Amino acid sequence: MSKRNEASYERFITGPIPRFDDRNGGFSKLQRGEIIDLDNLVTMQKGAATVIERALSRDPARKGKKGYKQEDYALKQAGRTIDVYVRKNLFSRDSEVDEHKVDDSEKTTITRKIKRVTGWFGADLVGICEVNPAWVYTHWGDNNAIRSGIANSGDPIELPSWVKSAIVMVIAMDYQRLKKSPAAEGGTDLAYSKMAFTAASVATYIRNLGYHAISCGNDLALSIPLAVDAGLGELGRNGMLITRQFGPRVRICKVFTELSLEPDSPIDIGVQHFCERCEICAKSCPGQAIKYGDRTDKAWDDSNSMNLLKWPVKPMNCLTYWIKNRADCAVCLRTCPFNKPEGPLHSVVRKTIETTSWFDRFFIKMDKVFKYGEQVLTELED
Ligand code: SF4
Ligand code: SF4
Repeated sequence: MSKRNEASYERFITGPIPRFDDRNGGFSKLQRGEIIDLDNLVTMQKGAATVIERALSRDPARKGKKGYKQEDYALKQAGRTIDVYVRKNLFSRDSEVDEHKVDDSEKTTITRKIKRVTGWFGADLVGICEVNPAWVYTHWGDNNAIRSGIANSGDPIELPSWVKSAIVMVIAMDYQRLKKSPAAEGGTDLAYSKMAFTAASVATYIRNLGYHAISCGNDLALSIPLAVDAGLGELGRNGMLITRQFGPRVRICKVFTELSLEPDSPIDIGVQHFCERCEICAKSCPGQAIKYGDRTDKAWDDSNSMNLLKWPVKPMNCLTYWIKNRADCAVCLRTCPFNKPEGPLHSVVRKTIETTSWFDRFFIKMDKVFKYGEQVLTELED
């Protein structure tokens, strides 16, 4: 793994990147009824508060289908328990800080302590970066506004002037659960609750040290570029953060803080050259939402950010498939060759991809031969 002075996306920037308006995100469009006619949306989920929850709930007509049974949805919704509470009560907001500030003059020491505590609360990876204002949303989107309850869609977003650092945390999703995708798998939902618990707890810890802190998940700012800046991975063809340890099988949460922490360097783990040769996610995407071929800086629509050469994902195609599927989909995570459990063989492959692009095509072929990305419909109780 090589550390870099600049993030791997920097060389693909073709113009000024405008801040993203969260109202243009796919989930906001879904919430506004721009993807599905809300009148046709029946739900079996008790207390479903948002259109997304209703759209991704159990379809009674498929009650016997493996991976879509009542038990599968019970696990999925239970996995969200902490996430729902934290978004409504703790995310996106600061609160009272201790009147006595601990000494933060030794940047290296306080950064090490914060990272240790973050891992103790449950983060699988943590990185620090300064906050690039280009990654902060301009306005609240419909979905995040409804879930947080502290803002309305269209309210402007500005981070407080005291924000000096972002603590970006990665929560790994369960490898076996994700193998079930696109069936209702539950691992994604549990990871949302883990990120809610972790980020909110870290923010509380920092406030108790006497410094301001705001925890958030997908709200307030784009998580992926912040994670890339914080040295946690690179952006892949599937539009996801690809980490060295877990590939794209992760969720991201962050804490914006008044503490001035030591930033990490961005990393290069070979994702850019590997994705140029591999189109496994594009081929396996049931919604045909992932771009084949070369990068482009042209957006499909206003749901994509501009002026960056990448493989823009079509959120409308993606979410239309989710609704048809009646569950969120993670096929582009499940099938990605970077999604592997720890092991000596996979470590050698990772190391090789980091060093050279010579064996990319061979590894892509082997991934198919060993059928790593195939769906496996096991139940948690099996
Ligand atoms: S989540 Fe599923 S539908 Fe969406 S881009 Fe990934 S594979 Fe395609
Ligand atoms: S499946 Fe292949 S192309 Fe897609 S993100 Fe993973 S490595 Fe890149």
